[in-house]
Amino acid sequence: MRLGLFGGTFNPIHYGHLRAAEEILESLALDRLLFIPAAQPPHKDSGAITPFATRLEMTRLAVEGHPVFEVSDIEGQRPGRSYSIETLRQFRAGYGAAAELFFILGLDAILEINTWKDYRQLFTLCHFVVLDRPGSAPDQLATVLQQEVHPQFRYQASQEAFWHPSGYQVFFRRITLLEISSTRIRQLAGQGQSIRYLLPETVRRYILINKLYQ
Ligand code: ATP
Ligand code: MG
Repeated sequence: MRLGLFGGTFNPIHYGHLRAAEEILESLALDRLLFIPAAQPPHKDSGAITPFATRLEMTRLAVEGHPVFEVSDIEGQRPGRSYSIETLRQFRAGYGAAAELFFILGLDAILEINTWKDYRQLFTLCHFVVLDRPGSAPDQLATVLQQEVHPQFRYQASQEAFWHPSGYQVFFRRITLLEISSTRIRQLAGQGQSIRYLLPETVRRYILINKLYQ
């Protein structure tokens, strides 16, 4: 079982997330890929954020009909802030040591990994997949991994991956670069401007009908 775990705020989910997930699914031959909306994102102001149930629903609408994509509400079932380390431990406990788990995140996110709870331990629980993203510098990845996470991260050029002494890898993946962000979509919606073609039509309609981000 090769399982991809894609965490995020998804406020709202957009084609930057979806196309990246589709390309990772193929390039890493994943059997399943779960989108995992954070109930209470540790890095974001909890007062200002769209309710979890709303973000979960938009994520469900976005993956509807996809043969492999699924949505997990696991972070909504825990009280308090949604820490990835706890989610990863839950998946590891549930699937057992033999499962190949791949935690997927964008380059901008991993470059700030030293702000995450128990971030050094994250890399001893599963593989990581780093998505290239406009606005972030790929050449900073090695520095962050080696200086902040573990000095013995070794780069293997043939796989574009860094090996952690635990045996888990951090894969860097060049994907179709899409300069789309949820922040920009919220801004556009707030100004009454079009968000069409930045995200699935079902999600766009949901945003309009429910008057989100106004
Ligand atoms: P916001 O602007 O609110 O932070 P966002 O567009 O960054 O939203 P998130 O929910 O924060 O979306 O992102 C979830 C994960 O997906 C993060 O790891 C982020 O780096 C990654 N990601 C988001 N958008 C893209 C994109 N266009 N290309 C590659 N990775 C992305
Ligand atoms: Mg973000």
